[in-house]
Amino acid sequence: MNLNQFKVPANKKIKLENFPTEFNGAIKDKSEGKELLEENVKKLAELQDRLYAYDKYALLLIFQAMDAAGKDGAIKHVMSGLNPQGTQVYSFKQPSQEEMDHDYLWRFYKALPERGRIGIFNRSYYEDVLVVRVHNLLRFRKLPQKLVNNNIWDQRFKQINNFEKYLFENGIITIKFFLNVSKEEQKKRFIKRIDDESKNWKFSEADIKERNYWDDYQKSYEDALNNTSTKYAPWYVIPADKKWFARLAISNIVVKTLEDLKLKYPELNEDQKSKLKDYKELLMNEK
Ligand code: ATP
Ligand code: MG
Repeated sequence: MNLNQFKVPANKKIKLENFPTEFNGAIKDKSEGKELLEENVKKLAELQDRLYAYDKYALLLIFQAMDAAGKDGAIKHVMSGLNPQGTQVYSFKQPSQEEMDHDYLWRFYKALPERGRIGIFNRSYYEDVLVVRVHNLLRFRKLPQKLVNNNIWDQRFKQINNFEKYLFENGIITIKFFLNVSKEEQKKRFIKRIDDESKNWKFSEADIKERNYWDDYQKSYEDALNNTSTKYAPWYVIPADKKWFARLAISNIVVKTLEDLKLKYPELNEDQKSKLKDYKELLMNEK
């Protein structure tokens, strides 16, 4: 699968409408897609083990999307084979009073993955240039009035780029996924949540309200993607109308990113190796 087709180039402007929501790649059908995902899940388990043993890099995966695009399912399926001790998942909702007493990056900084770990942000600081922008929520934040000006979104894009560059230069690799679902498919999924009793709990009135702002969100997403896809923290726009395809594409990207790190298990030096032999002898000769 050519993964570059989903990547937002660092120095070129894209139009979101040119990215497909519905896509199969060269994959025959859902069952083939699921088999390929299974293979990736196994690869990921092995790569995670190396990441953990090497204990120097961390991987941060950011998931952003409109409601019902499948963030939760993608996280669940792609990460299903991983060792829970090596992963950290955080879901970010509206900020609490305590969080609003700080700058907007604060709560995310605290949640960054430790070295050797894979961290997942289900929503992220990108909400601070998305929902906050669409609903003009800055007026409820505690920013000094004179700092809220027309340049604020561009300023935030720069702050985010600087932040992610800082992470990269400190061994924390960030990859960002926008699950690109169509408005039509979102409608189908909402209706399913209403029709299927076991899915009722997933339905929320707020989702319907947000849907009315679809075009504003698309615009804000496009602006964010164009301004914050960099070579050290790229954005991928994942076709999400088919859940199985989105999961497969994401898993491919995560596998590729980890493989590119060429992680090796730490090796012992000769001295340490010979000590191990001594220890083994000691154990064997135990009475
Ligand atoms: P799901 O609906 O699939 O359970 P979700 O991520 O949509 O998952 P919700 O609890 O429905 O979770 O929504 C979280 C809400 O919090 C979103 O509407 C999001 O826009 C909002 N949110 C996140 N960060 C911020 C922020 N910084 N300011 C305001 N709202 C935010
Ligand atoms: Mg929601």
